[in-house]
Amino acid sequence: MATERTLSIIKPDATKRNLTGKINAKFEEAGLRIVAQKRIQLSKEQAGEFYKVHAERPFYDELCTFMASAPVVVQVLEGDGAIQKNREVMGATNPADAAPGTIRAEFAESVGENSVHGSDAPETAAEEIAYFFSGLELVG
Ligand code: UDP
Ligand code: MG
Repeated sequence: MATERTLSIIKPDATKRNLTGKINAKFEEAGLRIVAQKRIQLSKEQAGEFYKVHAERPFYDELCTFMASAPVVVQVLEGDGAIQKNREVMGATNPADAAPGTIRAEFAESVGENSVHGSDAPETAAEEIAYFFSGLELVG
C-alpha cells in the first residue's frame, strides 16, 4: 500500500481534557507517524470554512461553535494507507457505534464532541493539509 498523508485534528473536547498524548499514542501504536503538529485556536469563521461541506447540515452551526470553543491540535499523519488507517483508529463518528479500542470509543463524549477529525479521501486530505500547513512545515 502506498505511503499517504492525512489531516487529523484533536478537537476541543479532547484538548480540554488533556488527552493529546493519549490520542497521539493511539496513532503511533497503529504505525502512523506524526510528521507535523501544532496547537491553534480556530475562529468560528475558520472552523466554518474547514467544515463548509457540511454547511447545509442541521448540526453545522453547533459544530463550528464547538470547534472554536477551545484550542485544537492540527496534525499531519503519514504511513501506509494512512487515510483509511486513521479512520479505523478514530472509530465511527458516533462513539456509541465505535469499535472497542478506537479513539472515539475510549474518549469521545457524544456524536458532536467526538475528540478527533480525520480526512476521508486523498483529495480531501490534500485540501485539508494545505488549509493548515505550508510546505515548509512538512518535513516528513
Ligand atoms: N457531527 C454532528 N452530528 C452528526 C454528525 C456529525 O455533530 O449527526 C459532527 C461530528 O463532530 C463529526 C463532524 O460533524 O465528526 C463531521 O461529520 P462527518 O459525517 O464528516 O463525520 P467524521 O468524518 O468526523 O466521522
Ligand atoms: Mg468527515
